[in-house]
Amino acid sequence: MAQSVERSFTVAGSIDEALAARLQGAVVLAGGTWLLRDPLRGVELPEAVVAVHRIPSLSEVIVEADRIVIGAGVTHEALGKALRGIAGFEAVVCAAESAANPGIRRVATIGGNLCSIDFPAADLAPALLACGAAVELETTSGPKRIDIPSLLNDRPGLLDQSILTKILLRRDLIASAHIRLPLRKAGDYPVAIVSLALDQDRRCRIAVGSVEPVARRWTVLEQAFAAEPGGFPRVPERAEALASEHNDFDGRDGTEADGWYRRQVLPVLIKRGVAALLESEGLA
Ligand SMILES: Cc1cc2nc3c(=O)[nH]c(=O)nc-3n(C[C@H](O)[C@H](O)[C@H](O)COP(=O)(O)OP(=O)(O)OC[C@H]3O[C@@H](n4cnc5c(N)ncnc54)[C@H](O)[C@@H]3O)c2cc1C
Repeated sequence: MAQSVERSFTVAGSIDEALAARLQGAVVLAGGTWLLRDPLRGVELPEAVVAVHRIPSLSEVIVEADRIVIGAGVTHEALGKALRGIAGFEAVVCAAESAANPGIRRVATIGGNLCSIDFPAADLAPALLACGAAVELETTSGPKRIDIPSLLNDRPGLLDQSILTKILLRRDLIASAHIRLPLRKAGDYPVAIVSLALDQDRRCRIAVGSVEPVARRWTVLEQAFAAEPGGFPRVPERAEALASEHNDFDGRDGTEADGWYRRQVLPVLIKRGVAALLESEGLA
């Protein structure tokens, strides 16, 4: 006979309340668009859940002269609107505005996108990596600030005892671009994603999502770009050739595409990304 499971649902009014529930084993519920798909993936829904949508600071985007602070509960739709037109963050805006579909984007949050451990195709992960974002977690010993690679690579350990509260961006970028390759139709998960960002010293950060299980910086290509005259390839085809030469990705096999294909499309996405950067004001 099937046993009935006692479930609990808490709506936290503050970060402290949410953290207390998390420490007692409740799973954080943000937009719910990923979590509530658990049964489709053969995973049981959690017995205890703490919803964080009523915590005011999690829904704020604060734009200051030298930095931007984004609450973890900001939706993709709100994020795109808040950052649109701010030079340097085109990649984040494009990631927020092109992920999934309008219905999902209205409720899915930036925190949920970064904290979905088993989701390699998250658009905001490479965009935020390229833009050099940091994140803040609320932990038992207070706020803890770490960079995005540390979060992405150690999510199970970190999120077991903490809650993601903020994403922080320095305003030292002049342009960025986010190029994604969905396969069949709008709404499919991207097969491969490339994000690039140029800072005021013409240093280029490059990040790749959906190709390997976790998004990461393409540091060998960043170094190859830096060795070009002027510190950046001025011709998209040159960038494509460098990407072919320095392609150190080990593509993952998945339902949308095989690993070799994900790896193979990267140079052409880099070419498009560099073309987009060069088109940005002042770079052409
Ligand atoms: C049909 C469909 C298409 C999609 N296509 C895309 C796409 O093209 N690109 C893309 O990037 N994404 C895509 N997604 C994924 C979507 O972006 C994620 O579902 C979404 O970002 C998750 O956000 P959420 O707020 O709904 O998170 P939830 O579902 O609420 O949570 C997801 C996970 O994050 C944890 N979590 C959430 N917030 C926090 C926090 N503050 N602190 C700690 N842990 C937290 C939860 O406990 C859970 O484990 C798609 C989803 C669907 C359903």
